[in-house]
Amino acid sequence: MAEEPAVKAAEEIASQLGEDRVLLEDLDRSAYSYDASGIHAIPSAVVRPSDVEDVSFIVEAANRYGVPVIPRGSGTSLVGGPLPIEGGIVVDMQMMNGILDKDDYSGLVRVEAGLKVLELNKVFPDRFMPINPDGAGFSTIGGLIAEDAASPLSAKYGTMKDLVIGVEAVLPSGEVVLVEQPGPPSKWNALGLMLGSEGTLGIFTSAYLRLPPKPESRRAFMIEFSDVYDSITVQNTIEREGIGILGFEVYHNYREVVEGGGMEAIAYLEMAGKEECVDLWSSRLSEVLGSMEIHHEEADLKDASDIWIRRKGIYEIARSRESAIKVVSMRVHPHLVRDAVQEIDRTGSRMKLPVVTVFDPPLGWVMAIFLYDPTNEKEVERTEKAAQNVISRTISLGGSVGFGTGVGVNRITPDMDEGFVTIFSKVKEALDPNWIMNPGKLVER
Ligand SMILES: Cc1cc2nc3c(=O)[nH]c(=O)nc-3n(C[C@H](O)[C@H](O)[C@H](O)COP(=O)(O)OP(=O)(O)OC[C@H]3O[C@@H](n4cnc5c(N)ncnc54)[C@H](O)[C@@H]3O)c2cc1C
Repeated sequence: MAEEPAVKAAEEIASQLGEDRVLLEDLDRSAYSYDASGIHAIPSAVVRPSDVEDVSFIVEAANRYGVPVIPRGSGTSLVGGPLPIEGGIVVDMQMMNGILDKDDYSGLVRVEAGLKVLELNKVFPDRFMPINPDGAGFSTIGGLIAEDAASPLSAKYGTMKDLVIGVEAVLPSGEVVLVEQPGPPSKWNALGLMLGSEGTLGIFTSAYLRLPPKPESRRAFMIEFSDVYDSITVQNTIEREGIGILGFEVYHNYREVVEGGGMEAIAYLEMAGKEECVDLWSSRLSEVLGSMEIHHEEADLKDASDIWIRRKGIYEIARSRESAIKVVSMRVHPHLVRDAVQEIDRTGSRMKLPVVTVFDPPLGWVMAIFLYDPTNEKEVERTEKAAQNVISRTISLGGSVGFGTGVGVNRITPDMDEGFVTIFSKVKEALDPNWIMNPGKLVER
């Protein structure tokens, strides 16, 4: 049953935007009750703005009624980011999917926040969006900015924040602000505050991005490891050889969990650059791996970017087994990747939970994906314990939680990062005194 103030706010929004933009039926609302995390929470209403004025009206009205507002892109979050876990109104941004401006020479483009990566990649023939976390291009630009998303190519191109020049956002008061570069350095601070804020400080309505040129040539390889830690050694060797890595991602226990048995780890490596460099690097890579007796093969793919779509296998297997996934994503110093992976292994076997660990040695990015049965209370409890254990071990290794995927419902507590929580909470109180913007995410109230 929808909450009374939320329904009143939704009715007011319907009278301004039109009835067809506000969804109140059970079936419609339940379509917005999940994301890729397996968590469920049903909104009281869903609203679908088509421009920045609509978004401003929605947020201002919700604030007056004290109703939570939860921005949503495509719902591919792995951490419950767009779910109304404290109730409220979900704002579906997908109708705001236009390309507002572009410059072919510099690769600058201004797009609405609901545009999907798939569509953005059609804007320039010779440039591309390297951050494509779900592999299929479904994530929206607003979602990527809110999560400061990473992807397999982040070792070369950085995370989403490295491609954003400016954003237009609606603050919790309904006020519209534009924070963009170039400008005085203080503008970077304001922009930095908004990037990665997970929908808790405002709703992005559009963004200025700079897309990098497509490399002349790309080549991808699949490498198999009977000992997962060899992948770390290999990465160091490849680096010393001067091979230009575009992306390198290792999947530990993938074969066992997803395919029912096989090598301890598989890795995908992509190199990119001028055709002649890629030729040279490919043969050097073969020599290096051959001397270590490590099986590898060039990936037989029309488009090298397809390779990264394989990561979807983990989520698909979870769905087909009717299991849920609990994702803990973190970043540690690259030389501590081995320790983080070991800790996840130990936690998985202690808690008797299947776990796939995806990691990116050059970046120091490690992501534990635990599979569990959401209908089994004991297993749910063990999964929570496993996630908490991995989080506290990451902190003790000097790492941070939430890199890449965002933090979402896992929330950062003062014992994990006192400085961040103190500053963030004070900024949040100032901008959003009623805590209406995506409550229950990123930090506790
Ligand atoms: C197979 C698979 C693999 C993945 N791998 C990765 C990975 O490697 N790295 C990674 O970073 N992520 C990964 N993800 C997660 C996901 O793709 C990203 O987090 C993505 O950024 C979410 O985009 P979205 O449009 O679906 O946003 P949603 O899931 O709808 O929302 C994500 C968050 O952004 C907020 N938000 C959405 N739109 C706005 C807006 N306009 N303004 C303000 N806040 C907004 C939401 O409130 C929520 O907190 C993966 C997902 C899948 C399914």
